[in-house]
Amino acid sequence: TEETLVLVKPDGVARGLTGAILARIEAKGYSLVDIRLVEPDRGTLERHYAEHEGKPFYEPLLEFMMSGPSVAIRLAGNRVIEGFRSLAGTTDPTTAAPGTIRGDLGRDWGLKVQQNLVHGSDSPESAARELAIWFA
Ligand code: ATP
Repeated sequence: TEETLVLVKPDGVARGLTGAILARIEAKGYSLVDIRLVEPDRGTLERHYAEHEGKPFYEPLLEFMMSGPSVAIRLAGNRVIEGFRSLAGTTDPTTAAPGTIRGDLGRDWGLKVQQNLVHGSDSPESAARELAIWFA
């Protein structure tokens, strides 16, 4: 089995979609190993998003991620890294496939940063790194 870090981002929590998102994750058969409400400081987000430093959406992304609480989830299951990213859909909510979290529930607000409801680690290395940041 494998573990990944999932975040329900501030837009998901603010819109009251945490339960709907968790329902999809649980229905798929993945296991919640740990879950908590988080209000990350800038340093935590700089570590989490280090690969994006300098990109045009970097500052708006950090501001967005500090705009309200998120829910951090340690999720386990067979091929859960790939599986959750498939459940989430692609980055842009406008073009994310229907049936996915972002495709069904995500809205394009016309902002500099995609407020696309969730984050999921993209590789085993990222998952280990990110789980150490959010579940220290
Ligand atoms: P995916 O890997 O499926 O694209 P992700 O959440 O892992 O999703 P990253 O590429 O790691 O996406 O980017 C982190 C976050 O930064 C995105 O979820 C989104 O909120 C924002 N973002 C990424 N690329 C853009 C972009 N081109 N324009 C606006 N916001 C973006």
